[in-house]
Amino acid sequence: VLPGEGPDVREGASEVATEGVSRAEDFVRGRGIRLVREDGTAFLDAASGTFNVPLGYDHPEVVEAVVEQLRRMAHASSSLMAAQAKQVLSELLAHAPSHLTAGWMRDITGSTANECAVQVAQKATGKTDVLSLFLSHHGQTQFTTAISGNAFRRKGFPEAVSPHSVKVPAPYCYRCFYKAKYPGCGMLCVERISDFVEYASSGSVACMLVEPVLGNGGNVVPPPGYFQALNKLCEEKGILLIADEVQTGMGRTGHLFASEALGFKPNIVTLAKGLGGIGVPVAAVLFEGALDVLESHEHSFTSGCNPVALTAASATLKAMTSGHLLANVRRNGIILGELLHTLATRHPCVGDVRGLGYMWGLEIVREDGSPDVEKTLALIRVAQERHQLVLRGSRYSFGNVVKVRPPLIATQDDLEEIVARLGRALADVG
Ligand code: PMP
Repeated sequence: VLPGEGPDVREGASEVATEGVSRAEDFVRGRGIRLVREDGTAFLDAASGTFNVPLGYDHPEVVEAVVEQLRRMAHASSSLMAAQAKQVLSELLAHAPSHLTAGWMRDITGSTANECAVQVAQKATGKTDVLSLFLSHHGQTQFTTAISGNAFRRKGFPEAVSPHSVKVPAPYCYRCFYKAKYPGCGMLCVERISDFVEYASSGSVACMLVEPVLGNGGNVVPPPGYFQALNKLCEEKGILLIADEVQTGMGRTGHLFASEALGFKPNIVTLAKGLGGIGVPVAAVLFEGALDVLESHEHSFTSGCNPVALTAASATLKAMTSGHLLANVRRNGIILGELLHTLATRHPCVGDVRGLGYMWGLEIVREDGSPDVEKTLALIRVAQERHQLVLRGSRYSFGNVVKVRPPLIATQDDLEEIVARLGRALADVG
């Protein structure tokens, strides 16, 4: 079933595509931050595809580079593409935090990039277990499903349950799992991880996988100091910290890497989605030099090192680092946050507004503060009827978070239009 096919959200509220696309539109063209239907109707895409179109749908330099590469050669066996892969990897590393000096450039999706990161951690440490957060999403292969915090995806798939996966409470202050309040809580969500390591793991923990901002889990931004405390704890316990930057990476937070925006030092970073700029599938894993332990037969795919994908990544990186794009995201992201906070003051059903850069979420609640999934779905549907696309957090992260993630090329005017339309949709759903 494709997103938007199957039961319509209006009837079966909880049984639809998890990202909450209201219904399929037959788009035939992408222009900037808009998708256009055959009848010419343009939709403002405030979700950047599935957060994988940071440069919009027709970024000229990326399109040009990709078309030119297609004309020359669409594919060669991955083992023959090592030189181009190495080149693009070195371009990425040149812009990465300086402690990351090696990597793996053979993935095309975020799921397998995360598999790769775990393989690296397991092989380098000789340990087995993987810590991850409640509400997290790390992919849809069997193992990344096993280590993701969205339990509903495991139902009916025994291989998607792993004895090596240990989940710990997420730093979700708005609905704290410990019913505590920051900062008086002393960050139990970090402190208690030791208990999970001691009592819930096999005693052999290789790594901890975290999304710097929980994406599908509801655009959850951890409180100040969270990642610094996590960094320290992992270091003390010899646990490698992996930042899953599949959603947060490639400029989404106004920095190429969210770990830079949030000031922490993961040992391994995964990138996908935005790396292809205009939606071309490509992924990468960056790590410290000492972790360069994998051999090619341990993690490679037929379509790995695809020259079109590599070219898209290279052109995207250039587009993101050569001009003012990221500075604009940092500046306009603050404005977007202010606009959304103002919107919330006019609509009491918006219980919380959180985010940074071009990565924001609105938590839709009832009067008693409980998650209002029906209203969230209605809001997304009405927004779509008003020709604006937004997505929601996965339904098992309460399903009541509307994610506002415009392409990074969106101007201040675009952001104002997005928020104005959201405001009209909020007024419609009451
Ligand atoms: N990690 C995160 C944080 C994601 O959001 C996703 C996809 N939504 C993945 C990994 C998996 O990426 P892909 O769909 O490219 O396999």
